[in-house]
Amino acid sequence: MTLARDLINRLSFKNEETIIFNIQDYCVDDGPGIRTVIFFKGCYLRCSWCSNPESQLFDPEIIYFRIKCKKCRRCENTCPFLNIDCSNSNFPIISREHCLMCKSKTCTKMCPENALKTVGYSITVLGLFEKVKKNSLLFRNSGGGITLSGGEPLAHTGFIREFLKKTMAVGFSVGVETCGYFDWDKVVDFLPNIDFFFFDLKIIDSKFHKALTGVSNEKIHLNLKRLSQNEVNKITISVPIIPGINDYLENIKETIDLCTEFGIKNIRFLKYHEWGRGKYQELGRPYLLNKKLKIQDNDLKTFEIVAQEAGLQVTII
Ligand code: SF4
Ligand code: SF4
Repeated sequence: MTLARDLINRLSFKNEETIIFNIQDYCVDDGPGIRTVIFFKGCYLRCSWCSNPESQLFDPEIIYFRIKCKKCRRCENTCPFLNIDCSNSNFPIISREHCLMCKSKTCTKMCPENALKTVGYSITVLGLFEKVKKNSLLFRNSGGGITLSGGEPLAHTGFIREFLKKTMAVGFSVGVETCGYFDWDKVVDFLPNIDFFFFDLKIIDSKFHKALTGVSNEKIHLNLKRLSQNEVNKITISVPIIPGINDYLENIKETIDLCTEFGIKNIRFLKYHEWGRGKYQELGRPYLLNKKLKIQDNDLKTFEIVAQEAGLQVTII
C-alpha cells in the first residue's frame, strides 16, 4: 500500500502544490549568509546512513515517539481500519503497509501525549513564498536566501519552476542541495535561475553505489557533467564521509578526479553523525548501519590535503 501510494504521489505532483516535511529558518551551513532551508519530501535514493529517513517517501507518514507513549491504547481503538495493534505490551504497532494516511487521521488526533504525529504536509507555491518572505530583511542583511533541500528537491520540478518565478521577482537568492539523481529534461529550463548547487557525490564505484543507495551513479555523473558545462562556478561537491563505507582514500581521490575533469573548484566534506538513528525506529524501519561509527580526524586531514593539492577549495562541516 505504501509503495503504491508513493508511486501515485510521484506521478501526481502538481505545479502549484507539493509535499514538504520541514522549513528551517536561521541556517548557516547551507549556503552563504543566513538561510531558510525547505525540506522537500521524497527521494529516489535510499542511502543506508540517511539522517533524514522521513524525507525518503514521497507522501506523508505516521511517526511514533515511543518515549512519549503512555500505553493508553486509545490509538488502537480509533483507527477505523484496524491498522494499529497494541496487544504487545500495550505499545502500538502500526501496520504501515496498510495505513491509508486517511483524511481523519484519528490516531494522531486522539493521542493525548502527541506520541503519534504526521510527518509531511502539502504546501502551495504561494503558501511557501509567504512563509519565506518574512525573512527578506534577514536575507538582505546577511547575504543569505533560500536553500531547497530534502529529500530530492529537483524531483518537485513543476513546483520549483513556479516558486523560482516568485523568488526571482523579489531578488531572493535560491540554492539547491541535490543528490544528483533527477530528470535532466525536466529541470534544464530553470537551472540557470538557481544561484548555487551543493551536488552530492557519495561513492564513485557504481556497483558499490547501487548496493548502498539503491541506484547506480551513471545518471548522477551525467547530470553533473551537463551541469558543469554551463554552471560550473555555481557547483560545490558535497561528500558525506561515512566511516567504513566511503572513507577510503581511493574513493576520495576518484571524487577529486571527477571534479578536476569537470572543472569544479569547490568541495565540502560532511562529517557523518548518528542524529538520525532514532528516527528509523520512530518510522518503523531498521537502521542498517549497526556499528557505532566514528570518523578519524587523520583521515579527514588527509582528504583535505589531497583535495587542496588538486587545486580545490575545501570546506569541512
Ligand atoms: S492514518 Fe488513518 S489508517 Fe493510518 S493508522 Fe492512522 S487512523 Fe489508521
Ligand atoms: S494513543 Fe498515544 S499514548 Fe496512547 S497508546 Fe497510542 S501512541 Fe501511546
